[in-house]
Amino acid sequence: MKLDDRNSLKLLGTDRINNLDNANDRNSLKLLGNISSVESMGLADGPGIRYVVFLQGCQLRCQYCHNPETWNLDGGRETITPHDLIRRIERYKSYFGKSGGVTFSGGEPLLQPKFLLECLSLCREKGINTVLDTAGVGISPRDEIEKILSLCDLVILDIKAVREEDYKNLTGQPMSRFKNFLSICQEKGVKLWLRQVIVPGLNDNEENIKELAHFIKPLKNVERVELLPYKNLGEIKYKTLGIKYRLEGLENMDEEKCRCLETLLKELIEKI
Ligand code: SF4
Repeated sequence: MKLDDRNSLKLLGTDRINNLDNANDRNSLKLLGNISSVESMGLADGPGIRYVVFLQGCQLRCQYCHNPETWNLDGGRETITPHDLIRRIERYKSYFGKSGGVTFSGGEPLLQPKFLLECLSLCREKGINTVLDTAGVGISPRDEIEKILSLCDLVILDIKAVREEDYKNLTGQPMSRFKNFLSICQEKGVKLWLRQVIVPGLNDNEENIKELAHFIKPLKNVERVELLPYKNLGEIKYKTLGIKYRLEGLENMDEEKCRCLETLLKELIEKI
């Protein structure tokens, strides 16, 4: 037995191990996902009613992030096998209707690629619609990303910024992994919803909207484009965690202005 397996057994506990009911369960002992939280009836993370799984871990450090507790890959509230998670999700299947399903979000779900892949594969087996809500910045090799995408019904992709220097300033990371992920999505014909968070004084201006429109226009399979207003939700969490919040004291983004910028963005994409 490899060290990873022994650790997995330790995490699961002997009672759980003795109750394993089939070979698939025994195999899934090798694979544990680290979950930050779940939302059983989500309405904002994809079509219809969705079970949203927030996976632990993120390598970006977005200035406006309101979930800094998800950053550490070793943190999280719960460790679970793919089979146990999907069994839990199946209890909500009757609420999903024709359009709902499960959304894997984060943190950054691509940071736990093997767990994600197994969950997506089980969802496909059980006819559960899947959405991947991501910034496209994991650590997976290309073939792993391709496998993941082949099992996603939709990708909600967060476009942090379209200029390299703005992206780095906002997230602390270069743009290369995001660009690579987006190009694989394009090659594979993945359906996309594109999002950007609009932050007062940072990107709530027409110049950004024009650049975003030019970035989005050539992309294929884009079903929806959304601008989300920044909300100052995380300040207390940063204080509790002892991390400096770079947007301290910043007001929420005006929702009406954000809606106007979204309308402008859609008009520009049509016109260009
Ligand atoms: S990608 Fe999401 S979880 Fe990661 S730092 Fe940015 S906002 Fe936070």
